[in-house]
Amino acid sequence: MTILVPEKPKRKLKPTAPFVPDLVYFEPQALEYEKGKRIMEWVKANNIEYRMTTSHNRITNLPGETDQEKYRIAKRTLVVGLRKTLKFDQSKPSAEYAIPISTGCMGHCHYCYLQTTLGSKPYIRVYVNTEDILHAAKDYIEERKPEITRFEAACTSDPVGLEHITGSLGDLIRFMADEEFGRLRFVTKYHHVDPLLNIKHNGHTRIRFSVNAEYVIKNFEPATSRFEERIEAAGKIAHAGYPLGFIIAPIIWYDGWEEGYSELLERLKENLPQEATKDLTFEMIQHRFTKTAKNVIEQRYPKSKLEMDIAKRETKWGKWGQYKYVYPKDQQQALREFITERIFDAFPQAKIEYFT
Ligand code: SF4
Repeated sequence: MTILVPEKPKRKLKPTAPFVPDLVYFEPQALEYEKGKRIMEWVKANNIEYRMTTSHNRITNLPGETDQEKYRIAKRTLVVGLRKTLKFDQSKPSAEYAIPISTGCMGHCHYCYLQTTLGSKPYIRVYVNTEDILHAAKDYIEERKPEITRFEAACTSDPVGLEHITGSLGDLIRFMADEEFGRLRFVTKYHHVDPLLNIKHNGHTRIRFSVNAEYVIKNFEPATSRFEERIEAAGKIAHAGYPLGFIIAPIIWYDGWEEGYSELLERLKENLPQEATKDLTFEMIQHRFTKTAKNVIEQRYPKSKLEMDIAKRETKWGKWGQYKYVYPKDQQQALREFITERIFDAFPQAKIEYFT
């Protein structure tokens, strides 16, 4: 007699919730702006504790006993202020300029370069003077036209994860839709794209999702949306007519990386709707770190499996005036060639923008 063992029902995972800060600071001037007022209403409606501060650059009284605790609390703290510096940084190789709408992120990716670039200010800052930021962008576009000027909105943050609070990406997308010579792009590890789906974009905004081998997502990307959620969101973005892309970053050399990255491309191919595969771009960034980053990461994530052995790496001069450690040439080449082949196997029409 055959005994039928009922299949175990698959555990339904809860969707990754949109970010809700534990504490919010406001610069008084921010409340003179519509966006600032709206954020205040949202804060009150959600019963979130808030305080006033003189400057978004000087939040000194954050709670927490140890540095690690302070860091964790800072990552759940939102600061609402005005962007004063309207000179944009360069953002090679993905765009000409970084457009600043937010700084800091609630994700806990161990390898994230914000660990060092934000120094002692890991809290999340959002800027409400979007009009000023758009005027500055307009000047950059005018200066370079008829060349196209591309703006990257995710250089210092993951703005998709903050969109339900600020609406700033929506403002940028609408603005860029009417700019003949301006383009917007941003990358995300969050799937909360619904506020972007019905916006007029004219194909001038490219939205990319950061994806990786399961090993990397599982071990190094806490507090971000799951792979399946990101892919589902990518399908929605393509359906809304936006140009779509993927960034595979950081590419990590680990035992089993070939299987890991093959599987990544297979899963993308299986799960992406057909309409998402037209005009698809890929960017590839190998893992790198500086000595400062290594120290900070070891303090903040002491149990991390992230390999940062200087003896196994090669140096490259970095724009922050420090050497960064990348993989030796032969490993770089192996990663690049292997993943490139897998990309073209899965998506023969895709465009690879760069490997760095
Ligand atoms: S989601 Fe992006 S910006 Fe946020 S911590 Fe992770 S790598 Fe950094």
